[in-house]
Amino acid sequence: MRVHFCGVRGSTPAPGPAFVRYGGFTSCVAIAHDHDEVPTLLLDSGTGVRRVTALLGGAPFAGTILLSHLHWDHTHGLPFFRGGDRDDALVSLLLPDQLDGQAASDVLARGMSPPHFPIGPEGLRGTWRFETVSPGTFSVEGFTVTAVEVPHKGGRTFGYRVSDGHASMSYVPDHCPTALGPGEDGLGAMHDAALALAGGVDLLVHDAQLLSDEVATEASFGHAAADYAVGLGRAAGSRRVVLFHHKPERTDDDLDALAARFDDEAVVVASEDLVLSL
Ligand SMILES: [Zn+2]
Ligand SMILES: [Zn+2]
Repeated sequence: MRVHFCGVRGSTPAPGPAFVRYGGFTSCVAIAHDHDEVPTLLLDSGTGVRRVTALLGGAPFAGTILLSHLHWDHTHGLPFFRGGDRDDALVSLLLPDQLDGQAASDVLARGMSPPHFPIGPEGLRGTWRFETVSPGTFSVEGFTVTAVEVPHKGGRTFGYRVSDGHASMSYVPDHCPTALGPGEDGLGAMHDAALALAGGVDLLVHDAQLLSDEVATEASFGHAAADYAVGLGRAAGSRRVVLFHHKPERTDDDLDALAARFDDEAVVVASEDLVLSL
């Protein structure tokens, strides 16, 4: 499979000259089968989903958008996804069941409808299907996906493990491991759900919003430290770890320093032009 990083920021977009190399769009990762020219599976639709349109070569999007959770930085790009918002698009949007009996489109509409936004989900052009997913394994666009619930803050959040039968990757953009205890180093518990997601994957894309010295004061907002992500990957046997969901104020220079500190070719700091073939 081929993994395109289209938005790598957390919380809010980060425009400006200090952010041009790693990029300022919020979370979106596009996955294509090796033999396909275009991606068919999108993980989240932060503002980075706008960049997916350029990968489609003028064609409409025909595929699935899988949301890890409903926070703004993972959904705000949706109505601005030109490749998906056109009459000939064919899109399935799947989001975590909120366990409150609400239909997927109604859950999405809580954040995307007047007066918050001019249209609701039903106003998107093309053929859209909205459904909920629950923890477990299912098949989507020829990929095998396993959804695993992880602790975050404010709303049910899933990490996803994706396999094409040859290679595997896990996507855990928002994760608060300290919610389950401090772990050995104070950065959070190496709990079963995290280990299940990271275990033996070719690529672990993980929340790295925080630096270790920010955990004490900021982990309560729902995020993990870069060192936790790397430690989890090493503990679980992930072949490569991609540090993802950068804090909006983390500049290019800051992220260069983060990469230099690990100095490990198995640790990659996500940037918007990153494309990895697994
Ligand atoms: Zn987020
Ligand atoms: Zn979040």
